[in-house]
Amino acid sequence: MIKVLVSGAAGRMGREVVKAVSNDSEMELVGAVDRMFSGQDAGEVAGIGHLNLPLVDDLEWALRASGAQVAVDFSTPQSVRENINIMLGAGVCPVIGTTGLKENDLEEIDAQSKAAGIPVFIAPNFAIGAVLMMRFAAECAKLFDHAEIIEFHHEKKLEAPSGTAFKTAQLMREARGSDFIRVGGDDESNGSAAIGARGGQMGGIAIHSVRTPGYLAHQEVIFGMAGQTLNIRHDTITRECYMPGVLRAIKAVQSLSGLTYGLEHIL
Ligand code: NAP
Repeated sequence: MIKVLVSGAAGRMGREVVKAVSNDSEMELVGAVDRMFSGQDAGEVAGIGHLNLPLVDDLEWALRASGAQVAVDFSTPQSVRENINIMLGAGVCPVIGTTGLKENDLEEIDAQSKAAGIPVFIAPNFAIGAVLMMRFAAECAKLFDHAEIIEFHHEKKLEAPSGTAFKTAQLMREARGSDFIRVGGDDESNGSAAIGARGGQMGGIAIHSVRTPGYLAHQEVIFGMAGQTLNIRHDTITRECYMPGVLRAIKAVQSLSGLTYGLEHIL
């Protein structure tokens, strides 16, 4: 049995992880941490009945008191970096779904993980369909010179672009070995009415982030060349879609080394 602690356990994703870990016969949920609902039962907050596991707000204390081997974090972009430090300091393997980590954070985490001898797993997207979308996008990137990414999320998402859009652009740029051709609009020649209408950009790929109620998590990658376009789209319907990937990472992380970034490495 793998002893698992969930950080951000009262959040939208954290509650799904509490459910999924509790229902997995190879895992035991030993700790639940969140700033909200402190003292309340983690199972009741997750809507699966009493688990006799109170939520606490002190991650460091909970890691040591619970004997956790793996800690899953779906907290906030502001707290994830510090949470990883605390997990590594406590000798517990982090499995991180929280987005917002930058390239220099990932380099630092890899070095820290190797120095401590504690594997770390991070995936900006735990949905298997999204990983395939990224793989197909990387393939197309070798043949198309123009590409744009539109990602659509619920209004409560804190950062933009999404971690998935960021990673997709990274993989596309790497697969291609050079920047895409970016065209049009950057001179804002239409006055300053809508500055940034051509989106942010990474490696010549325009990235557009839509935030509105009604969406969960969706992404479309558009490739273009003369006379044709190719669209690759992934839609997340419920947060359950992330759980097979999260459970797989919990089972795999202890046998990895250093930082593993991306679900594709354990599929
Ligand atoms: P959420 O509902 O806001 O949940 C985050 C929870 O973490 C909140 O209850 C928050 O409490 C708590 N929290 C804040 N600081 C904390 C800390 N220092 N330690 C422990 N818990 C803390 O957000 P969500 O929708 O579940 O998303 C969480 C993260 O996962 C986001 O970064 C999101 O982009 C990411 N995400 C990743 C994937 C993936 O596949 N990798 C999929 C979906 C979402 P307060 O409300 O008091 O701040």
